[in-house]
Amino acid sequence: MDLKKYDTRPAVVPIKKIVRENDIVNTYVFEYPLGAEPGQFVMLWIPGVDEKPISVAYDDGKVFWLTVCKVGPGTQELFKLKKGDKVGIRGPFGTKYKFDRRDNLALVAGGYGAAPMYFVANEAVKKGCGIDFLIGARNKDLLIYTQKVMGLNDVRLHIATDDGSAGFEGYITQVLEDVLGEDPEINKVFTCGPEPMMKVVGDICAKAGIDCWLSIEKYMKCGFGVCGQCAVDDTGELVCKKGPVMSYDYVRKLPEFGKYYRDAQGQKHYFKS
Ligand SMILES: Cc1cc2nc3c(=O)[nH]c(=O)nc-3n(C[C@H](O)[C@H](O)[C@H](O)COP(=O)(O)OP(=O)(O)OC[C@H]3O[C@@H](n4cnc5c(N)ncnc54)[C@H](O)[C@@H]3O)c2cc1C
Repeated sequence: MDLKKYDTRPAVVPIKKIVRENDIVNTYVFEYPLGAEPGQFVMLWIPGVDEKPISVAYDDGKVFWLTVCKVGPGTQELFKLKKGDKVGIRGPFGTKYKFDRRDNLALVAGGYGAAPMYFVANEAVKKGCGIDFLIGARNKDLLIYTQKVMGLNDVRLHIATDDGSAGFEGYITQVLEDVLGEDPEINKVFTCGPEPMMKVVGDICAKAGIDCWLSIEKYMKCGFGVCGQCAVDDTGELVCKKGPVMSYDYVRKLPEFGKYYRDAQGQKHYFKS
């Protein structure tokens, strides 16, 4: 029996390097054999604060990266840490984006979603998949991972910004419609980003009859199916176990998808439309 699977104690790991992506996003590099696959996440323990779920952005078996956006008290404390400071890592947890060498993928990222999508691209190029990588942001200063994606062979990068300061002026979902229209070989769309964006991506795919998988974020406390915090309405299924990567066919039926999320106390918060 593989007991490691059931060991939920955090590994205490020093931060090897911190890469500033922009004013509110950093990438933390760790030397540790995590063994994650694209789509999976870890519970990152920030000493004295809390544990936070964060998707893996890269893992080569020796080194892994986490790309974190500063949004609230936990991530603010993380941003105060320096190279050499220690954090706790539990995982990897959760489901994966699945692909094989016959697949032609469109990867649609919004905000820090570019990081987990980069992990998909990095592994999918090794399998010889065709890849269109689409990144959207409000403006050019908020775009992340574009240089890293350009460093991958045979990956077509598409950029959109709301204000037109880089790439197409408008939403990345408009670019997705064009890309799908131009390339009938694309058979899977993976997306990671703000829920309202992923809903539009899913609807475009449903209309085009293309398989769509997305990573959904729910407030999580344990990460491995014990606390029940990430149960979704109405099925009660736990996102940390059934997800975070789920098919749009499943997610679209959830009454909360694209409408609201729950905080640590279970209180509902509606997304701004
Ligand atoms: C599976 C998974 C993977 C994740 N991967 C990443 C990642 O790679 N990088 C990253 O930066 N973050 C990621 N997150 C989100 C990250 O866990 C949270 O941003 C973090 O916990 C915020 O902690 P905090 O204490 O800084 O802020 P909090 O006080 O917990 O929240 C800050 C703000 O975010 C809002 N918020 C909280 N939960 C949600 C939600 N579910 N939907 C919408 N808004 C919400 C709150 O209203 C609040 O305004 C992931 C979450 C999950 C579940």
